[in-house]
Amino acid sequence: MSVIVRAEHVLTMGTAGDVRDGAVAFDGDRIVDVGPWAEVAARRPDATVVGDEHGVITPGFVNCHNHLSEALICGMASDMTLWEWGQRLIVPVGLVLDRELAYLGTRVKAAEMLLCGVTCVNDMFCYDNYGAQATLGVVDALEELGLRAVESLGAGDVEFGGTGRADHTVMDLIFAEHEALADRCSSSPLVTFRYGIATVLAQTPELFATGIKRAAEEGWAVHTHIAEVREELTSCRVQHGMNTLELSHRHGLLDLELIAAHCVWVNETDIGLLAARDVKVAHNPVANRILASGVCPVPRLRREGVTVGIGTDGAASNDSNNMLEAVKMAALVQKLHHLDATRMSASDALRMATIDGARALALDHEIGSLEVGKKADIVRFSGLGPGLANIHDPYERLVYCASPRDVADVWVDGAQRVADGELVGADLRRLVLDSKPAAVELVTRAGLGELSVLARTAEARP
Ligand SMILES: [Zn+2]
Repeated sequence: MSVIVRAEHVLTMGTAGDVRDGAVAFDGDRIVDVGPWAEVAARRPDATVVGDEHGVITPGFVNCHNHLSEALICGMASDMTLWEWGQRLIVPVGLVLDRELAYLGTRVKAAEMLLCGVTCVNDMFCYDNYGAQATLGVVDALEELGLRAVESLGAGDVEFGGTGRADHTVMDLIFAEHEALADRCSSSPLVTFRYGIATVLAQTPELFATGIKRAAEEGWAVHTHIAEVREELTSCRVQHGMNTLELSHRHGLLDLELIAAHCVWVNETDIGLLAARDVKVAHNPVANRILASGVCPVPRLRREGVTVGIGTDGAASNDSNNMLEAVKMAALVQKLHHLDATRMSASDALRMATIDGARALALDHEIGSLEVGKKADIVRFSGLGPGLANIHDPYERLVYCASPRDVADVWVDGAQRVADGELVGADLRRLVLDSKPAAVELVTRAGLGELSVLARTAEARP
């Protein structure tokens, strides 16, 4: 039987634009009708109705860049620079992460994302304990919580900030995990696979070249980071005589379907190259500010026709997975940086968080807008709380005023995952309680107890 979701404003992010007193109907996993409430209701008198004449409906948000490998280490070492943070936190944690810890951490972060209206996440799991095949634990958790995702292993065989020589045993383990993940995703209803390259500099030339060749042969799309911080460009120029984007181009990476996180440190030539090769960019405004990486020239990229989506980035470099915060920040960063309040509008930010994000993942034929035939990935924001009371402009109200508290109902693939602001099908309290000993176990194994009050307290207990 059909379900009709109703609100004061339906922001379709498609050709229908903003439908006042609108409704979206879906049957199973597909949207079957979008239009004025009275007309949709008349066409489907037997449908179940959710919502009322208040609030806003949007397509589910697409979180274009995340690291669920950081799910259990939020709010640690956040005041370090990116390279210190990488060496002191991410490297030791990456050596001891395993499938069970990946599963327990992902469950909490998947819940956090659903509760703020994310219905699809592009994740890159970064770690170095390759034999553990931890990415499979991520897929298990994503499926359990019912979050749509694109999963990749952010592989690297060079220690953070180092150089390193190819080790074929490590390379074999890395490719074994890529293959196991691709295989696992091929039978998943919600999770698809991408080939992951942590960063150009995190890979030996052998791994980098072999991976690109393999991705081209298999038709794998790719997820990587490019031009995040100035140190990356300096280091790459010293090692290779060119920046990371040029090096990626030289090796054929830009010929593949590619989403590159950040692209903060790009010059005019780089922007031309991104546009010419149709490289998609995942912009992470909160993480860029926490790590003081710089400001991505988003308006300039978009003017040149580059598709830019918004990501939260990893839970340890943001340090939350609150997508609404990232969407608001995407607009605010440009306004402040250019000292120009017109530099990015709320509707542009919302577009980037939905249809452009879907385009950035080559999923726009299925998700990203509310249109007949697309997947039923739908978010209803209540209009009966302080966040969305008195909607003068639905785009501005949503981007600048809404918080996760306003997210009332979320459907992914037609299945309700949030109802009346509560997670459906999973006990949030249980997920959180299960994650605490896992977080203690992880930081203790990594030898990082001194950075964690939680671990020190657990250790002091008899
Ligand atoms: Zn990242």
